[in-house]
Amino acid sequence: MTQSHSPKSPTTSSPVAPDPKPARAPLDDDLSREFQVEPGFERFDQKWDIYNRAHWDESIDPKDFFASYDMAQCVFRESEGFTQWDFALRNAGWHLTDWTSELKEPTEDRREGFSDYYTMHRSGAPTPVALGSPEDTTGRIKKAAEFLGAGRVGVCDLDERWVYARNYSRLTKESKPLELPPEMRHAILVVVPMDYELGKTYPSSLGGAATGSGYTHDLITVLALAQFIRNLGFRAIASLNDTALSIPMAIAAGLGEYGRNGLLITKEYGPRVRIGKVFTDLPLIPDQPTKFGVKEFCEVCDRCTRGCPVNAIPFAEPQSEPPNRSSLAHVTKWTVNAEKCFSYWTSTNTECAICIRVCPYNKDYSKWWVRIGRRLAGTRLRRWMLKLDIALGFGRRVKPTGWWRRGSAR
Ligand code: SF4
Ligand code: SF4
Repeated sequence: MTQSHSPKSPTTSSPVAPDPKPARAPLDDDLSREFQVEPGFERFDQKWDIYNRAHWDESIDPKDFFASYDMAQCVFRESEGFTQWDFALRNAGWHLTDWTSELKEPTEDRREGFSDYYTMHRSGAPTPVALGSPEDTTGRIKKAAEFLGAGRVGVCDLDERWVYARNYSRLTKESKPLELPPEMRHAILVVVPMDYELGKTYPSSLGGAATGSGYTHDLITVLALAQFIRNLGFRAIASLNDTALSIPMAIAAGLGEYGRNGLLITKEYGPRVRIGKVFTDLPLIPDQPTKFGVKEFCEVCDRCTRGCPVNAIPFAEPQSEPPNRSSLAHVTKWTVNAEKCFSYWTSTNTECAICIRVCPYNKDYSKWWVRIGRRLAGTRLRRWMLKLDIALGFGRRVKPTGWWRRGSAR
C-alpha cells in the first residue's frame, strides 16, 4: 500500500486530546442511560489494555502467545486444531493485519491497527466534491462501505468519551499522546462477519483463522473506505482496534446491542463480527441505537458464562467497577475479566472465542427459520428459545479435523 500523506494528514493536525483529562460526558444520551455512565467516568488509557499490559506489566505473562504468530517461533502440537496446518492458516488470516501493523513501528513508533490509526493513504482530491443533502451523502457512503466489504455499516457522532485518553507506545513501554484532528465529528462503523463454520471449532488455532481473517477483511474495508472519502476531498482516518473503543461506538451507530460476553451482538451475525471504523469530517446523518431484545435475553441466559473455561464472564448483574484496570470504570455493564481471559489465550497460544461460539445469537441468519427464532428470542418466549437452542445442539464444538476433511465447497 502506498504510504503518502495529504496536507490534511492527521499526523500534522492539531490534537483533540493531547492529555488524559476526563472527557465531558453527555450524561443524558442513549448510551449513558443504557450503561449508567457515572460522573466520575474517565477515558481509557490504552496502556491498560491487556495486550499492551503484556508488554510492560510483569504481572501479565504472555508466555509464547505473541511468538506463536511467527511461524519460525510457533510451537505446533499434535492435538487437533493446533497442528502446523492450523497455525499456518490462522497466521495467514492475520498476515495483512499483522504486516501492516509493523510497517511504521521501527521508524515512527506507530503500530497501526492495534495502537495507532492508519496513515497509509494517498492524498486524495485537493478540492471537495459537491455534496447533495446529508441524507444523500450518508446513503452513498453506506453503499460504498458495503461494496468495499462491510457486512453492516452505521454512523455515529464522535463521542469523545470512547476515544482513548492516551495511546500506548511499545517502543518506550509508556503512554503517548493521541492525536485525532478535532474536525473528525463523525465515525463510520463497519462490521465484517467471521466465518460461521470455522467459528464452530473454537477454541483452536484453526478457529483463530476466522478471527484473523475477519480483522484483515475489516482492514481492507476501512482503508478503502477512508481512501474513498479522501478521494471526495474530505478528511478520513481508518481505524481498527486503535484510537477508540469500537463497541460503544458501534452500539451508538445502531449496529447492535451489548451482550453479557462483553461483545457487540449484531442482528445479522450475532457476536461473530469484527469491528472497524473510519473517522471523518464528512457531513453525515448519525444512526440511532437499535434494540431487538439482547439485554433481556442475556438476563436469562448464561451460556457464555458457563462456557468460559476460566470464569472470566460474570454471572452477576452489571457492575460499575471492573474486575481490574484493563476495563472501563464508572460504567455499569457486564465486564469480562481480561486478565483471566488472556491467561487462557496464553495457555493455548491462540484466540479463544468460546463465548462467541456458544452464544445463541451466533447463527446463520440467511435461513428463514433462524430469523424467526431470533424474533421469538426477543419476546417472552426467550427462556423457551434458550432451552430449544441447547436441545438442538447449537454452540457445540466441532472438531477442527472435521472442518479440514469437509474439503473445498466446490
Ligand atoms: S474468549 Fe474464552 S476465555 Fe475469554 S471470556 Fe470468552 S470464553 Fe472466556
Ligand atoms: S451467550 Fe447468552 S448471556 Fe452470553 S452474550 Fe450470548 S445471549 Fe447473552
